[in-house]
Amino acid sequence: MAEETIFSKIIRREIPSDIVFQDEKVTAFRDISPQAPTHILIIPNKLIPTINEVTEQDESMLGHMITVAAKIAKQEGIDESGYRLVMNCNKDAGQEVFHLHMHLLGGRNLGRLVG
Ligand code: AMP
Repeated sequence: MAEETIFSKIIRREIPSDIVFQDEKVTAFRDISPQAPTHILIIPNKLIPTINEVTEQDESMLGHMITVAAKIAKQEGIDESGYRLVMNCNKDAGQEVFHLHMHLLGGRNLGRLVG
């Protein structure tokens, strides 16, 4: 069994956080240390530690994470200006919290990351 992180407590609303969206599959809340004017984390309610533990059963939930990200980007008014979705996996990507999460970053020019 994977060990719970602080994100499980956020999902269950056991600790304070700025939740912007929640349904039966995912929770989205503002990052405590924002790297851009909009910095929101979208996470599955189910504990999956890293992308490596994703299975085919998770595919609809993973698609839902992107749909939710797009809706939040619109709510935040950054859908036209643009935004970036990032998922870090393990050490070399700098993953710090071992509960799968997608960063939604926008509200400023983010610069080029790749390409
Ligand atoms: P990562 O480096 O991809 O694992 O990102 C983890 C993110 O979680 C970082 O951007 C942290 O600032 C953020 N974070 C950690 N604890 C909390 C918390 N209690 N509430 C909101 N965001 C958090």
